[in-house]
Amino acid sequence: MPFDIAIIGGGPGGSAAAISAARAGLKVVLCEKGPHGRDKVCGDGLTPRAIGALDELGIDHSVAHRIDGLRMIAGKKQRELAWPTTDRFPNHGAVWPRQRFDNHLLDVAIAAGADVRFGAEALPVIENGTVVGVETNGEVLRSSLVVLATGAQGAAAKMLGAVRDPDETFGLAIRAYAPTPRHAERHLEACLSLRDEHGTPIPGYGWMFPAGDGTVNIGVGALSTMKGFKKLNLNTLLDQYAAIVRDSWSLGDYVDKPRAWRLPMSCVRRHGPGWVAIGDAAGFVNPMNGEGIDYALESGMLAVQCFVNDPATAPSSYDRLVGERFDSFLRTGRRFSFIIGHPWLLRPGLRVAVGTQAAADITLAVMGNLIDSSTPGAAGRVMRLADNTLRIADPLLRRTRAKA
Ligand SMILES: Cc1cc2nc3c(=O)[nH]c(=O)nc-3n(C[C@H](O)[C@H](O)[C@H](O)COP(=O)(O)OP(=O)(O)OC[C@H]3O[C@@H](n4cnc5c(N)ncnc54)[C@H](O)[C@@H]3O)c2cc1C
Repeated sequence: MPFDIAIIGGGPGGSAAAISAARAGLKVVLCEKGPHGRDKVCGDGLTPRAIGALDELGIDHSVAHRIDGLRMIAGKKQRELAWPTTDRFPNHGAVWPRQRFDNHLLDVAIAAGADVRFGAEALPVIENGTVVGVETNGEVLRSSLVVLATGAQGAAAKMLGAVRDPDETFGLAIRAYAPTPRHAERHLEACLSLRDEHGTPIPGYGWMFPAGDGTVNIGVGALSTMKGFKKLNLNTLLDQYAAIVRDSWSLGDYVDKPRAWRLPMSCVRRHGPGWVAIGDAAGFVNPMNGEGIDYALESGMLAVQCFVNDPATAPSSYDRLVGERFDSFLRTGRRFSFIIGHPWLLRPGLRVAVGTQAAADITLAVMGNLIDSSTPGAAGRVMRLADNTLRIADPLLRRTRAKA
């Protein structure tokens, strides 16, 4: 077999897999359809969990703009929160604009020995129901494992049935860069009380993520559980939000045209004979905050670890292990998205979430997935309570979806 692993897609997930594989001494090829230097529409925010994943991957993140916490805004309430201190994750995050971040990861993969090909749109090659490699630019590259790291699901994902569950939540978000004198601040800012042009509360938020390079990444995102989602105009919503923050941030004009993209939050099939899906291609986006970089990094590393342990069982062991790590949290997040899709639950929920400093601290830890079901203390108890309550309330919330 010419390659051990062939990766389709050169975002953080694909790069994490390529770096891990090359360092483990495997023969790995990564096909990215864009050119070297391609950008990805994103908020560029790295949570402490993502910084932990970069540490695990051995990536020097000192060039990224360090972030110490989050300013949470809901109506007139503002809470300035530090990232929680835990034994498991560092207590800082970062903003690292994706064009620089993604290309740095790809350069590390190349330096580690991965065969990285740009301008190489690839599709899986399937023989007798098993994926045996990829085809790109008329060439077939055979491999023992194919890693689908193609981001929000497209043609390659469709061929493998790695598609979104139509009954589940997904998100849409838009971002732009704009100059601001506050570019070097060390807090992210999130406004949780956005409304669309008709006054409908948005299950989602507006963000100001200072990049430390003279600009701020400004954006808005919404979940598909809201009433009127199909007609939601993201450009209008972004302009409305920019008008709200323009004075306090002395915000200049957008540097370039705002760009929007999808946030997949489910996937009906994430492995099969000869292949696994990671990152957005597997639907690993946190419905509570739209974060996906960490999940892409973690799932990319895990897929390679499973292959190193035993190539023959890698797809099924990856599916089991990644499920143990993420499924319960992401399922709770999807259920939560049906709650906040109801305006009459979103408003009182926000009052509780930011009502006191202690409640806001818990909200931050839960939303950032900086706890898990074994975490002790208040945040752990809230997560377990949320798990149980949402499991019971879920059928009703789905039945009454968007009718509120
Ligand atoms: C507006 C917006 C804001 C966001 N903000 C944040 C944030 O602040 N923090 C955060 O953690 N997450 C954020 N996310 C989510 C985050 O961007 C994704 O979760 C993350 O990029 C997933 O990484 P990935 O490697 O799985 O996929 P991607 O980064 O999407 O990379 C996939 C790559 O595959 C390539 N590709 C696709 N098909 C093929 C093919 N057939 N052949 C070859 N190449 C192919 C694409 O060109 C792309 O380079 C945001 C998303 C959006 C839309």
